[in-house]
Amino acid sequence: MEQDEYAVGLDLGGTKILAGLVHKSGQMINSTVLPTSSQDGERAVIDRVLAAIEGVLGTANADRQKVRGVGVASAGVIDSKAAEVIFAGNLGWEHVPIGKLIEDKFALPAQLINDANAAAVAEWMWGAGRGAQNMIYVTVSTGVGAGIISDGQLVQGKDGSAGEFGHISIDWNGPLCSCGNRGCLELYASGTALEHLVKHQLEQEQREWTGGSLAAGAFPTAKEIGEAALAGDRYSVEIIERAGYCLGIGTTSLIHLFNPEVVVFGGGVMNASDILLREVKRSVRERSIQSMARQVRIERQQVGIQAGAIGAAGLLFAAKQSAGKLPAY
Ligand SMILES: [Zn+2]
Repeated sequence: MEQDEYAVGLDLGGTKILAGLVHKSGQMINSTVLPTSSQDGERAVIDRVLAAIEGVLGTANADRQKVRGVGVASAGVIDSKAAEVIFAGNLGWEHVPIGKLIEDKFALPAQLINDANAAAVAEWMWGAGRGAQNMIYVTVSTGVGAGIISDGQLVQGKDGSAGEFGHISIDWNGPLCSCGNRGCLELYASGTALEHLVKHQLEQEQREWTGGSLAAGAFPTAKEIGEAALAGDRYSVEIIERAGYCLGIGTTSLIHLFNPEVVVFGGGVMNASDILLREVKRSVRERSIQSMARQVRIERQQVGIQAGAIGAAGLLFAAKQSAGKLPAY
């Protein structure tokens, strides 16, 4: 009976909405993808979220009785307890009580979680962090974020915003960040940072990009920089190594704070290049308290690009539904 439980997981991203029916084993049984198209306005995106859930429930061969609820992973500032998106620039949302809207329409419990935390839950329950009581998931994509599992519990903070790893400062005198701090990790190690850095340097030094062909007047994307580094382009290797080393400085702080058994790395930029992870490991080896560094495993994510939706569904399998409390696997 318990083996046949399901939850709907939905990943609400700036470009697409991915919803899927997730079995208690972590398998996604079916999925629906819709474009977010936030330029159509708040109501249109809400309607597409509801339509995606409806699509998943409609085509599910699972008995509706066996669906525990809906988990939503969202970027931006959220209030996980109120299941409300407070602010998400990439969605054009302000104060959207998405949890309540889902509960009203489908008569199923709904939970909201920050997207990095959702991926952390997925890796913890079914991926590279499985079995660990202390695990940190780090995502490196457009920005840098983290989800922290400490002593078997997801650390969400007062309203679900904990884990803003990208805004740890690694240079007190560094450039000003949009968050108000200076020298934030995200300014050195995110996809956005890589792109800005390369564009700036090529323009300043009036050099040509050597990492592959580009459209006239274009600059390389983070993915292209990662691929060029893998192909041996020296300039790209240096850029990626520097980003990886900076990421390792931040990771060292996480290791010192939380004493994890494993740190799992995911996200589009991380996936684009092995060099990044290699440099993170080197940096952590050089800078961490040795007794802690020796014990920690640094690994690549396993669940894949559906981790946000799968992890959001995973929350629904948590015992007694107490916020942030995860089942003891
Ligand atoms: Zn910042």
